[in-house]
Amino acid sequence: MPFDLTLTNATIVTADAQHRVIPNGALAVRAGRIAWIGDTKDAPPAQKTHDANGMILMPGLINTHCHAADSLFRGLVEDLPLEAWLQKVWRAEGAILTPETTRLGATLGFAELLQSGVTTVMDMFWHPAQTVAAARAVGVRVATGGIFIDGPGVDGATPAHRLRDAEAFFDTFGGQDDVFPGTLPHGTYTTSPETLRAAHALAMRHGGFFCTHAAETRAEQSIVTTRYGQSVIRHLHAHGLLSPQTVLAHCVHLDDAEIAILAQTGAVVSHNPVSNLKLASGIARIPDLLDAGVTVTLGTDGAISGNDLDMWLALRLAATLHKGATMRADAVSTAQAFDMITRAGARALNATDRIGSLEPGKFADMILIDTHRPHAVPMFDPLTHIVYSTNKSDVRHVFLGGEQVVRDGTLTRLNIADTLDEVSALIPRIAASIA
Ligand SMILES: [Zn+2]
Repeated sequence: MPFDLTLTNATIVTADAQHRVIPNGALAVRAGRIAWIGDTKDAPPAQKTHDANGMILMPGLINTHCHAADSLFRGLVEDLPLEAWLQKVWRAEGAILTPETTRLGATLGFAELLQSGVTTVMDMFWHPAQTVAAARAVGVRVATGGIFIDGPGVDGATPAHRLRDAEAFFDTFGGQDDVFPGTLPHGTYTTSPETLRAAHALAMRHGGFFCTHAAETRAEQSIVTTRYGQSVIRHLHAHGLLSPQTVLAHCVHLDDAEIAILAQTGAVVSHNPVSNLKLASGIARIPDLLDAGVTVTLGTDGAISGNDLDMWLALRLAATLHKGATMRADAVSTAQAFDMITRAGARALNATDRIGSLEPGKFADMILIDTHRPHAVPMFDPLTHIVYSTNKSDVRHVFLGGEQVVRDGTLTRLNIADTLDEVSALIPRIAASIA
């Protein structure tokens, strides 16, 4: 059977277990999956050939924590700590979000992510079917599903209604290559233990993931400790909610015993350094989590707690912030930071057989990074270049399942100008929502 596409002359950063780099490498795609990888001189013929000379070829980035549709509120609420900030954000969301505006905001967010090389994103938001529609329109894989929170929320639904919707989400989107279904209750301080347990049970019954915000701020820890008599991680553990299928966003405020619980249960941490810095939440104990063997992944969080969705900034912070905070130059190694956006991200989604590295059999989700730029020369070690020198405008081409979804920095599936116009038309209403 012939190959559909061959990329040639690239520096291939495979992100495989050995962190293998293939100089002057080639990669061939068949039926959306990587079918061959090796030296360009041995590259097989294909229907299409793409010369990637002067570029790094690496797996598409995996963002494990986002609220893409919140891009509608970028820059609206500033200079407040999380709790006061959330009150304003929720007011704006309540006034603006419908299924249609949610889809619009998610399209905006996913467009930004895909253009910067993110091909899989875990997204927690209202109207998850709209999130999937936006992801498909743009061309990213999305991990999402039913959201849960005590009280009416944006959807005005009861807990029972939300459970039914979440179940229907699994029925509709389970078994599809571009959707990883799960359940995503907001957090232990906003969602009752009964609802958390029900959302978790539903996800486990369907083989999905369970994601929630956890231990983001000191105030959250004190609310949960006062209400339930134990800290956030202990509370989650006591209710049986921690396992390798659990993804915990933030985990900034942890004691040693809580880190041990995460290691022992296999729960995954999504590190969101941009959000943690901007909202003054603190600095997560990432080196200690890594030392304990916890899987640490990386997220952007929403564009309201970081103002853009920049995985490259998150990556560089993950690799530098903890060196400064601990005064240890090896606190997070280059390879450890790189794994957060590739292999570990795939582990968080229980999808190491499909994404997270460039190896035969996996989805051909891959990006080409331009290294013919002043800040990229010389390049002695591509991994170091990726972690410390690359920025989002260096991403020139993006492939999802072998389909080119970004060409020369431009989205191919949709005309983003229309989305930008629609968002611009909403600005007066968004501004008035918190007035
Ligand atoms: Zn979040």
